Amino acid sequence: MYDYLIVGAGLFGAVFAREAAAAGKRCLVIDKRSHIAGNIYTEDVEGIAVHRYGAHIFHTNNKAVWDYVNRFATFNRYTNSPVANYKGELYNLPFNMNTFNKMWGVVTPAEAQAKIDEQRAAHYTAHPQNLEEQAINLVGVDIYEKLIKGYTEKQWGRPCTALPAFIIQRLPVRLTFDNNYFNALYQGIPNEGYTALVANLLQGVEVRLDTDYLADRAALDALARKVVYTGPIDAYFDACYGALQYRSVRFETEVLDCPNYQGNAVINYTDAETPYTRIIEHKHFVFASTEPGTKTVISREYSAEWKPGDEPYYPVNDAENGALYARYKALADARPGVIFGGRLGEYKYYDMDRVIEAALACVQRELNG
Ligand code: FAD
Ligand code: UDP
Repeated sequence: MYDYLIVGAGLFGAVFAREAAAAGKRCLVIDKRSHIAGNIYTEDVEGIAVHRYGAHIFHTNNKAVWDYVNRFATFNRYTNSPVANYKGELYNLPFNMNTFNKMWGVVTPAEAQAKIDEQRAAHYTAHPQNLEEQAINLVGVDIYEKLIKGYTEKQWGRPCTALPAFIIQRLPVRLTFDNNYFNALYQGIPNEGYTALVANLLQGVEVRLDTDYLADRAALDALARKVVYTGPIDAYFDACYGALQYRSVRFETEVLDCPNYQGNAVINYTDAETPYTRIIEHKHFVFASTEPGTKTVISREYSAEWKPGDEPYYPVNDAENGALYARYKALADARPGVIFGGRLGEYKYYDMDRVIEAALACVQRELNG
């Protein structure tokens, strides 16, 4: 008999298992996939750590979380500095003096501010109701047209006028020459890949792979006092109120016979015509050596509407899905023997640091209460 059956060997499940096991609880972790680490899984291809389910950059302002992950992996000093490619024109991101200089030829922060003010004034909306209005208020029409509109519409499969304004609030606008995409105090990539980090978390914990909880629920439930479920919450309840929506992503990964394909880990394609949103060149996430090697691995990312059978990636944060989630949450609250956690269990867009915070808080509540 186990104290906890933990469904999902992703970050939430692994942190929960680690802390519960350290407190003397017996844990069994299962995953329907054939590997641990959930969506942060990295695998070795030609000596390069490939992020199979999308590029993951660890960034946080929470020192306790940063110290926690550094117990299980050594992190490099990777700083995310994506570049936008708009029909062959290259711009630095996030929007900063390098971007403004390339876009308008302005040289000083005062000139850039004046240009942004002029652009905003032409199309200002007092109370922005959608992403298009919010973006134009923030940076004006030129940047909206070249760097935001095409990318966002490809990513979400909807016009910017039909998307909520808050999505764009994540993008910093800076009057300095700083290409660091994140404002976080701490940032990096594990030198040995994320799979090794999760393997270290799960050291000493029993793990069964290729085991689908929903396919054998009664027998698995009988093994433990309590269940921690990190799969999709609607699937747990057999989608009895209807399916929650997600955005999915398709990755087209290729090994190329060249040492350096694009010179950067992330290049966003911000026009509407290029069918993919971005190309990731995995080797640039680590500074392995002065030897670049003869091969490289790239992944093109195609954003897609989710349909049953696809990997659910991004929860769709609109009113309709929010209301549907609230109904499933009420069912979940009525099951004290099951804890719903993580990105799919809580239907929440969680970065990795937030998942760790949530898992630590959850396990502490469990162990102390
Ligand atoms: P998951 O990693 O999804 O783990 C859930 C696990 O449960 C999976 O392994 C799944 O197989 C398993 N499971 C589901 N159902 C069952 C079942 N019925 N039976 C058995 N097992 C089951 N965060 C960042 O901080 N930085 C980034 O740069 C970043 N980039 C991202 C890019 C993309 C494309 C996406 C989609 C997310 C990104 N994130 C990023 C977020 C990050 O992926 C999540 O915070 C994190 O992986 C969530 O961990 P989790 O354990 O909640 O979920
Ligand atoms: N975005 C954009 N152009 C870019 C990069 C981002 O317009 O080149 C916008 C887009 O609306 C996107 C949002 O910023 O949905 C957040 O992007 P980010 O890359 O931060 O989020 P992620 O894709 O990692 O969730």
